[in-house]
Parts: sequence; structure tokens; C-alpha cells
Amino acid sequence: MDRWTRRKFFLTSLAGSAFAGAGRLFGKTLEVTDGNRPGPRLLGPAPVAGTRPLIISSANGLNALDKGMQILKGGGDTLEAAVAAVTVVEDDPNDDSVGYGGLPNEEGEVELDASVMHGPTRRAGSVASVRRIKNVSRLAKTVMERTNHVMIVGDGARRFGLAEGFEEMNLLTEHSRKIWLAWKAKTSFNWRPGTDSPEWKEHVAALFDYDAEKIAYAMRVITSPPTGTINCLAVNAKGEVSGTTTTSGLAWKIPGRVGDSPVIGAGLFVDGEVGGAGSTGKGEENIKICGGHTIVEMMRKGMKPDDACLEAVGRVVRNYNGDKKKLTTFHLYFYAVNRDGEYGSASLWKNGYEEGKGAMFAVHDGTPARLVPCKTFFDEIGHEE
Ligand code: ASP
Repeated sequence: MDRWTRRKFFLTSLAGSAFAGAGRLFGKTLEVTDGNRPGPRLLGPAPVAGTRPLIISSANGLNALDKGMQILKGGGDTLEAAVAAVTVVEDDPNDDSVGYGGLPNEEGEVELDASVMHGPTRRAGSVASVRRIKNVSRLAKTVMERTNHVMIVGDGARRFGLAEGFEEMNLLTEHSRKIWLAWKAKTSFNWRPGTDSPEWKEHVAALFDYDAEKIAYAMRVITSPPTGTINCLAVNAKGEVSGTTTTSGLAWKIPGRVGDSPVIGAGLFVDGEVGGAGSTGKGEENIKICGGHTIVEMMRKGMKPDDACLEAVGRVVRNYNGDKKKLTTFHLYFYAVNRDGEYGSASLWKNGYEEGKGAMFAVHDGTPARLVPCKTFFDEIGHEE
């Protein structure tokens, strides 16, 4: 059996056993109830192995988790904590996968997507394809709190934001504008000087002042359009859970393309009685398996967060019959917490956001925030981000 087949076998058996008898599998005394009726739930009297309060995110949230942890320690709301953390990343012009400075669509417009779920009140909010508003996680929270809707998209979402007092601004930084121009120059004959021009050869290099590092980065994101997002999940001392996912989506996308981040059940799902899960990476793949919801339902049956994440990755792999050549065209991560404060993450490939470093996610459980390795489906380098 090759590595993939073995892992798939393991996961399939694990999932089967979990459904048949989660209590035995995880050494816990679990009360199994009919999920359609109120009553005691799975995860009931199990010993608590996790830590609370707890806040986790994708690796790019490492320096933002302190903000959320302060709120949790002060007795604040879990969604307030998660949104405060991701707002730090949305505001950061140097993170070109989220909020201000995000890489734009093919027309050079930054379009943002975000969702929130509040476990204690079982509510959700979401926005998609929003232009000119930076803090879309807060905008999604405002949809949840101030409207009778769950999801608002496009210009309607922008106008709703303005009505609610959000500031309108150009989200394209000089950095992301130049990379977009370089992408145009590489992909279109019309967006570069003609061959009669002395500049035609060095047009792209000149855009980046001949800085080798900047040129190498631009070439990388042009040939392999990056995805990138922040997902953040928070659990407070009482075991309440909330989460948010926010992104500028796939670079160079067709205007109006929406990924998984704002799709409740895919890029984010929280059930306050169980836990929460979210994702980063190629949203189209996650939407097809409803990853967030799938993971929470597996945790409801007793699966640990990291195993549930790995099982979700396995479903994506199955969609391609394990064809690594096809799977190497993208990367995908899942993150999960349960209400006991246990956490985990799994990724498709071994490599992560930063070159030379493995796939990681960020965890803050009271000690300083740190990066923790994800479980990986394939123990090899796949799609480079
Ligand atoms: N999942 C997001 C999307 O597909 C973006 C990402 O994580 O890169 O839009």
C-alpha cells in the first residue's frame, strides 16, 4: 500500500468507527443522542484535555492573536475576540492575502469576502465581493447584528457598510498595484511596451526598481496565483465558541468570483455545542466538501479536531482519486477547536506559507502565541504558495 492509500484507509476506517462508536474509539464516555432533538450532546461528560481560553488562526495570524486573547482574558465575547484579531491582519498593508493590500482581481480591484459565526447565540453573518471596505470581518458581524439577513454581496454590501458608518477607501497599495501591473504585462501583449520600444525587455524589472527579491516574489505570485486568508477561532473560559474567516480571495480572479471564506458551512462553521472549524487555501475545493460543517459534525461524533481536519482533507483528495499531479495545483488547510479547548489543523501538503517552513498554524492558549505544525495529508512538498 502506498502512503496515500494507507492514510486513506486509516481515515476511512477511523471515520467508520467513529460513527459506530465514538465513545469507545476515544476512550470517553459519550452520550449519543438523536441530533435532531434537544438533549445531552456528544462531548458531554468527557474529561477536558484542552485549554481555555484559547484562540487559534492560520499562520498569518500569529502576531494578531494577542489582541484576541486580551479580550478573552478580560471576559469579553468570543466573536469580538476573533474579529479583533483578524482586524490586525486586515489593516496590515504587508499581508497581501487579506484586507488592505490584498492582491486584486484581474481588473485591479481588490474584492474581499468574510464570514462570522457566534456560537452562544447561534447566529451567522457574511459578505462577499466587497470593494473599497477594508474590515470585512466586522462588516459580516454587522450584517449578523443589524439585519435580518445572513449574507450580503457586491455593491449592496459596500452600500450597507457605508450606511453603517464604515469608511470607503482604495484597498490597492502601491505594492499590490505593481504586482498586478506585472501580472498584466506577463499575460497580455497590450499591457507591455511594444517590441519597438527600448524598454520592452525590462518593463517588469523596472516596475520593481530592479530589486531582485521583489521581482522574484512578483514572478512567483504571477505564475502561481496565491490564495491566502485568515481564519480565527476563539473559545472562552466558559467553553463558548465563535469564529471568523476573512480574505481577498484568489489573486487575479474573475470579478465576482467568491471562494469558501464567506460560505457558511465551508470556510467557517461553528456550533456552540461542539466547536468550530474554518479553512484557508483553494476555496473551490473546500466548497465542494463543505469542510467547516463536515469537520464540526465529525467532532460532534467524538473525533478530535486534528483528525476531523485530516478527514476533511482526505475528502478533497478523494475528489481527485488521489491524483497528486492534479492535487499539486493547489493547497488547502483546515483548522478546528472544540468547546473543551482542544484544537488541531491539517493541510494537504507539507510545505507552508513561508518557504522552507512546514505547514503551520498559530495557537495562543495563554502562553505566548506560537506556530504549531499542522497534520499533513501528504508528507511531501506540493503546491508552492
Ligand atoms: N479560501 C479563500 C478563497 O478561496 C482564499 C484563500 O484561502 O486563499 O477565496
